[in-house]
Amino acid sequence: MSVHNARPGSVRKPHVVVIGAGYAGALAANRLQQNRDIHITIINPRPVFVERVRLHELVAGTGNATVELAGLLGERVRLVIDTATRINSTTRTVELESGSHVTYDYLIYAVGSTGAVPASVPGAVEYAYPISELEHAERLRATIDVLPDNAPICVVGGGLTGIEAASELAEQRPHAKVTLLCGGILAPSVGEKARASVLRQLTKLGVIVEDEAVVAEVGPDRVRLSDGHSLPSAATVWTAGFGVPDLAARSGLTTDGIGRLVTDETLTSVDDPWIFGAGDASAPAGPQLRMSCQAAMPLAARATSTVLARIAGDEVKVLHQSFVGSNISIGRRHGTIAAARQDDSPRSFYLGGRLAAFVKEMVCTTVVKQIAKEGRRPGSYRWPGATKRPASLDSVAG
Ligand SMILES: Cc1cc2nc3c(=O)[nH]c(=O)nc-3n(C[C@H](O)[C@H](O)[C@H](O)COP(=O)(O)OP(=O)(O)OC[C@H]3O[C@@H](n4cnc5c(N)ncnc54)[C@H](O)[C@@H]3O)c2cc1C
Repeated sequence: MSVHNARPGSVRKPHVVVIGAGYAGALAANRLQQNRDIHITIINPRPVFVERVRLHELVAGTGNATVELAGLLGERVRLVIDTATRINSTTRTVELESGSHVTYDYLIYAVGSTGAVPASVPGAVEYAYPISELEHAERLRATIDVLPDNAPICVVGGGLTGIEAASELAEQRPHAKVTLLCGGILAPSVGEKARASVLRQLTKLGVIVEDEAVVAEVGPDRVRLSDGHSLPSAATVWTAGFGVPDLAARSGLTTDGIGRLVTDETLTSVDDPWIFGAGDASAPAGPQLRMSCQAAMPLAARATSTVLARIAGDEVKVLHQSFVGSNISIGRRHGTIAAARQDDSPRSFYLGGRLAAFVKEMVCTTVVKQIAKEGRRPGSYRWPGATKRPASLDSVAG
């Protein structure tokens, strides 16, 4: 398939292509519909939207974490089920795994993130299970499903994903010994009081939390720690570290140390004025942003505004990202909400227990509803800080 599009100065409608239909890409594609005079195409490897924030639920058997994209995308968004293999910025073409290609006038790069199981830890790549993509989570679920009820499980990584995975598994498998190997402090991104709340709730569920435990080797049925101790582990879940797809780097675009597309504050690629970044796979100028839905969706909204402004010849505004905190589910019935300042540094306020679990569930559900609503009513999405106008918010020529 080849799609031919307008070039600047042409009377044909511009074609905006979005790569990746995750939180950022799906929102961006829907939001682009604000301009009725453009063609919009989104490329994604699957016909479903993956609620990555629920992948630990899929692993534990408490949720399925997918929603049909057909029901989520607006009627003017054309979905291409394929994988982008290269961006040719000279011909403005996205090459696809199927052998076909799509030509664009404007390109939004929203390929998200993935797990990073380190090759430097012997046995990790062979035996540990990441859970950051749908297929990873499905593979682990299939493994866990056939384990005896009391089979021990080790979860590596004391960050938010590790906490959510360990607690969900412990709640669903009360006869199993679930150990969380933090490799440092538990929940390093939250304040002390919130951390204590997380620890209390993990302990109630029977999770054994090993703060300083660093994994030195993973085997088929155990993990070895750097202090020489060994722990039985019928399934080792790896949640420490995130990586990103290498599509931008492979396409010769400037990326940061982990492969995210480097952009300016308008989310325009530093190499190419027709390419824009959104979500986990982008590294905008300014302070480092935590990979999260909380950042991915505002980044998508900003990238979309930049594209629409460029098409209309309007002024382009710079990103203003504002965090509010972390919502951590701890099993189905507990949670901790840790408040953060606008720059994502922790505040001391937190909310724990069932109310936090309820709020977390509501946030996960609302996010998907917001994307769907954007499909029906483009421009309706609002985010924290969207209406604030900080001193740094400048306009640049469109
Ligand atoms: C278990 C777990 C729990 C989490 N919990 C939270 C949480 O509570 N709160 C929070 O804010 N964040 C959470 N996160 C992180 C959050 O899921 C990500 O930050 C978010 O998904 C980023 O959105 P995105 O749109 O940038 O990328 P993604 O959601 O990863 O979407 C990227 C899309 O691009 C597609 N894609 C990739 N490569 C290509 C290609 N070459 N061609 C075409 N398509 C491609 C992918 O298949 C995917 O559909 C969690 C993550 C995990 C794994």
